[in-house]
Amino acid sequence: MDLATVLLLHKSSFFIGALCFLYVRWQSPSSHGLGILAAAFTLQAVASTFAGLGEKQALPLSVWALSSFSLGTLGYAVFWIGMRRLSGNNTRRPRDWFALAIPVGLIVTALLTGFHLDNLWRASIFQGSSILFLTASAVTLIHDARHEKLSARYALAAAIGVAVILSLFVVAGLILPNAAPLRPRDAFFLLILCHFAIALFSLVFVKERVEATLTTLLDTDALTQIHNRRWFFLALPAAPLAGDAFIIIDIDHFKRVNDTFGHAAGDIVLASAAKEMALNLRHGEIFARLGGEEFGLYLPATSGLDPQDVAERLRNVVQSLKIKVGDTDIPVTISAGTAVAGTGLPLHELMSRADTALYGAKSRGRNRIEAYQVGTPSALANDLRQSTNPARTAKAGQAA
Ligand code: GH3
Ligand code: MG
Ligand code: MG
Repeated sequence: MDLATVLLLHKSSFFIGALCFLYVRWQSPSSHGLGILAAAFTLQAVASTFAGLGEKQALPLSVWALSSFSLGTLGYAVFWIGMRRLSGNNTRRPRDWFALAIPVGLIVTALLTGFHLDNLWRASIFQGSSILFLTASAVTLIHDARHEKLSARYALAAAIGVAVILSLFVVAGLILPNAAPLRPRDAFFLLILCHFAIALFSLVFVKERVEATLTTLLDTDALTQIHNRRWFFLALPAAPLAGDAFIIIDIDHFKRVNDTFGHAAGDIVLASAAKEMALNLRHGEIFARLGGEEFGLYLPATSGLDPQDVAERLRNVVQSLKIKVGDTDIPVTISAGTAVAGTGLPLHELMSRADTALYGAKSRGRNRIEAYQVGTPSALANDLRQSTNPARTAKAGQAA
């Protein structure tokens, strides 16, 4: 492939990439960094255009060499800033703009020394700055995976990493033409493919992030920020195993909280109690707000936890909560009913038993935990309800 075609493809890869970034920015306005990345690719495309004009000798060397070097080095610095924004999502990193001092310093040095007029110097320093900013971009993407694990993040970092290796080959080919593993022109051509890959994986990255956000929203209760009923029923096993336990938790006299302190205070109580309980859970405990002031907790037998102990722990942490509205403390307590599954017990029956136990806790004065006990009067009443109207209790097992 002749150099003019390679340069045309090089320029096009940046223009197409810039258009992709602008398109995704328009589609997902909440995504950060895409406008900056579009600007970075546009700078590169214009730099590449100047290099192409230089190749055709349509411009004097002093003009095209300085223009392509300046815009290109600025483009890579801007690319790094954009990638940092994209990677960190909402993380504000205003000091990143100081990185522009590097290309500005190089441009000033070029003006003072004229090194840009020498092909080898210009190309080597240009590739050196691209290696610096591309490496930093890949490192940021991997580093931010601690906060947000998305597989496209690794694909994007890998594409940028390959671009770094190819840029190294370009420099090696320029400095040591006989020892380099690839001819600079071939490495340059592969770099073009990397630009497409970087644009493509950036789009996939944004799409994956949007999907992850939607899934979280779908599974999260908006008020309390803990899991919701939909998530809970999807997380439960289709049929409980013997030893699995279900705990139903209900805030005591919650209507009174609303009536006395107002609905907004009620919301604060709900959110605080939910957060506190969620903070006190252990691995393997499936917990969610089922609706109103009711919460469900499912303990697989494998957790090895005693449901009475778990419920008692939650009762204690909620009772210790200090919730203030103005100068007034709002006392909050919960009641809970627990039930343990035997072999072959359907899920709706396990839930109904916990409900029966909760009813017992309420009628015995609230702020207490009751376990479902076979043979007690309330258990017999539950069994009777089940046998006369199974449809009513089956409702308990339905997801919202
Ligand atoms: P008990 O001790 O027997 O559980 O009585 P309670 O008052 O806690 O229960 P009841 O079922 O009578 O009232 C529940 C109240 O919870 C009624 C409803 O308005 C209120 N509620 C449900 N969802 C919300 C919410 O999201 N925010 C607020 N502030 N109140 C809610
Ligand atoms: Mg209730
Ligand atoms: Mg209640």
